[in-house]
Amino acid sequence: MPRRQHITVLMILAVSAFLGITFVLSFRSQPEGTRHPDYTPSYHQQVSVDEGLLKGVATAPKLENATLKAELGNAAWKLLHTMMAKFPDKPTEDDSAALKSYIHLFARLYPCGDCARHFQKVLDKYPPQVATRSTAAAWACHVHNVVNKRLKKPEFDCSKIGDFYDCGCAEDGVPAKGKKEGFTPLTLDDKEGLTRGG
Ligand SMILES: Cc1cc2nc3c(=O)[nH]c(=O)nc-3n(C[C@H](O)[C@H](O)[C@H](O)COP(=O)(O)OP(=O)(O)OC[C@H]3O[C@@H](n4cnc5c(N)ncnc54)[C@H](O)[C@@H]3O)c2cc1C
Repeated sequence: MPRRQHITVLMILAVSAFLGITFVLSFRSQPEGTRHPDYTPSYHQQVSVDEGLLKGVATAPKLENATLKAELGNAAWKLLHTMMAKFPDKPTEDDSAALKSYIHLFARLYPCGDCARHFQKVLDKYPPQVATRSTAAAWACHVHNVVNKRLKKPEFDCSKIGDFYDCGCAEDGVPAKGKKEGFTPLTLDDKEGLTRGG
């Protein structure tokens, strides 16, 4: 092949390689929602979420109305505990990071400002435990009891949590009625075993 043709072929290969690499890199940096459905993140890579965003100053003002505060609390606890009950037993790192972020944002955005500020301090002391469904459920029960204690409400028996928050939600292809979720028994006598402070 003449020398000139060699150079042309080499240039075409170099440009193709450059375009290919640029395409792959730009695809990987897209937000999750716009990625190709076949894209799965590597769970070996560190899942990092901006701590400043998660732990920023609570957004809501003080909630003065005691009735609204109680109704809101009831609904919010129900959502939180049911979420734990439906969290995967064997979550991916991505699932766990999502739940941890959710809990911090739940605290930051909770629409009762004084409750939110107090709950953020509870999270500092008892960081979310998100390794499995059982640890997440036990952790949520524990922090709810911390709030109960502060409000002079009775302590909840966390060994009953698995029965209490069976939301009856159907799994794919499995009828909801009569279905019990498989909870690993919780050992909540060991409350102090929950990680404190980071
Ligand atoms: C994050 C957060 C912070 C809050 N901070 C404040 C605050 O600072 N000041 C304030 O006045 N109110 C606060 N509230 C509201 C408060 O916790 C109660 O929701 C509200 O007082 C109504 O109480 P309740 O007796 O109806 O039961 P709730 O505490 O709302 O509980 C609802 C039901 O959950 C069950 N339960 C109770 N304890 C547990 C547990 N440990 N684990 C699982 N299930 C349980 C019981 O069946 C109970 O009836 C907060 C709520 C939330 C979600």
